[in-house]
Amino acid sequence: MIFHDYYSEIPGDEINRFIATQEMGRLVTVSEDGTPHVGLYNFVYAPPAIELHLVRTDEQVADLKARTRCAFEVDEVLAVIPSHWVHPEYAGSATAYHRTVIFECAGAVAEDPAVVMAQQQRLLAKHQPEGQYRPLRVDDPLYKGALNHLAAVTLRISACRAKFKLGQNRPVAARRRVIEELRRRDRLNDARAADALQWTIDHPITPGAPMAADTLDQAKTKVTDAVDRLADDLEKISHQIHATPELCFHEEQAAGWLSTFLERQGARVERGVGGLPTAFRATIDGSGPGPTIAIMAEYDALPNIGHACGHNVIATAGTGAGAAIAAALGKIPFAGRIQVIGTPAEEGGAGKVRLMEAGVFKDVDAAMMIHGRCGTQVWRPSLGIIKVKCEFFGKASHASSWPWSGVNALNAMIQLFVSLDQMRQQIKPDARIHGIITKGGDQANIIPEHTASEFYLRAPTKDYCKELLRRFEGCAEGAATATGCRVTVTSDPTIHDPLKANFTMAGLFGKNLERIDFPVDPDDGEAGYGSTDCGNVSQVIPTIHPYIRISPNGIPGHSREFAEWAKSPLARAGMVAGAKALALTALDLVAKPDQLRRAKEEFAKTRG
Ligand SMILES: [Zn+2]
Ligand SMILES: [Zn+2]
Repeated sequence: MIFHDYYSEIPGDEINRFIATQEMGRLVTVSEDGTPHVGLYNFVYAPPAIELHLVRTDEQVADLKARTRCAFEVDEVLAVIPSHWVHPEYAGSATAYHRTVIFECAGAVAEDPAVVMAQQQRLLAKHQPEGQYRPLRVDDPLYKGALNHLAAVTLRISACRAKFKLGQNRPVAARRRVIEELRRRDRLNDARAADALQWTIDHPITPGAPMAADTLDQAKTKVTDAVDRLADDLEKISHQIHATPELCFHEEQAAGWLSTFLERQGARVERGVGGLPTAFRATIDGSGPGPTIAIMAEYDALPNIGHACGHNVIATAGTGAGAAIAAALGKIPFAGRIQVIGTPAEEGGAGKVRLMEAGVFKDVDAAMMIHGRCGTQVWRPSLGIIKVKCEFFGKASHASSWPWSGVNALNAMIQLFVSLDQMRQQIKPDARIHGIITKGGDQANIIPEHTASEFYLRAPTKDYCKELLRRFEGCAEGAATATGCRVTVTSDPTIHDPLKANFTMAGLFGKNLERIDFPVDPDDGEAGYGSTDCGNVSQVIPTIHPYIRISPNGIPGHSREFAEWAKSPLARAGMVAGAKALALTALDLVAKPDQLRRAKEEFAKTRG
């Protein structure tokens, strides 16, 4: 039989009872870089404040002045008992009963010597009756000398919580036996350990709620470790998807591999969500009702050039994030839930728009994904798109014997391309117009009676996309008039929206990249911008779409070279970093309601 000790949180009023005679504490102030400074101090606990003194030269004084938020921890060994009290087989060893109380405080350092002295007197008055300190008076020369080096600190308590390490998953009978023995000892700390142990019997932990007291930091460490453990499997899936490129709405195998992997790690998977057979949703629940954070995964390929957009990396980074959370935590130790949403058809199908229309994002509070690129950038704009089909209708005739009887629809099409190229000089630099002829005629000896083309009109704002469409229609009508053709311009009702930035969420993502030591690159400005259906999500809920390096500088997306890099060791590193940073950012958002609130406030204030 194995005995485990674990922690449970106890409410504030219980803390007051147990803290009453506690004397030593550790002050932990955390610097910007995350390094905690720790020291041991005497203190007086008098809610709602704690008074303590510390050595003036201590860097903590400077630290506390610059940054007043701190945590004050009180650690105490309540009792050490022989283990045979717990179980007869453990005759030789000892078991310690610990308690840690953590106060979240705002600290103030006193400068006035009179205030410092008054605080010293209170501390002395508290400690002298215990008989463990030399009975000093304030005018004692020795004390006066020491006083010059002391700082008086007042900590205003904003929150407190306590954790016991008491072996409370031992059978109740064993705990009762220990309590009995502790009471028999008749010592103060032993009595408190007995009280605390009795508390665990009176407040049983419901099985199946492990790690209720896990801090965010511990959860993050477990999740990044889990990504490392799963990395080989994730890379295998990434390579499988890469080797099996599936076009938009036909990603059957990729959706199957990814959703099965998530299920195996413990996520609850729904397939075919939103009426799209290759979409899925995997949910990892938290400790209760709360926000829903979505991590999006794309897995479609491009025609002919395969995974030249690296969606195999997006797929496995998003899936890896959810899988690692499920594998490492089982249940998220915070209220809310994290979902991986498998979003098909990014390249041409606007799958995310279809899923939004079907209500798949209805309960989502914030969404995120990563995209591979030739550099890591936490924020990069994307362009809106209006997709347009343009057709010209003329009249067929023999191209040699009766050309003057025909009306040439190909001439109109060529005229459209020429007009657009001339118009290009007068459009804004970030706007893009590009198209292909999908039908140029049937045979060279027939004057083409029908030609067709497809264009993307892109710009950083939806308004400018619409302006481009207005001018495009002018060019098309002009080409029709010039050639005597009839024209139809049909714009796709689904407009791709530009990405709306969310710097609150991007900031969290950046901090998590720092945590895992993955470098962010400056944007070298060598490339323009693409578009994504993630833009539409970003116009509805706070969303981020950071880029992760999976290739060397200067490799363009949608190129055969980039497709090669999407299965390289660099792609693996990007996938692992992406999975970690996505998972950690999602955890931040469920664990810190204030950050999610800030993200939502920023969203409400920002114009797309
Ligand atoms: Zn693409
Ligand atoms: Zn892409």
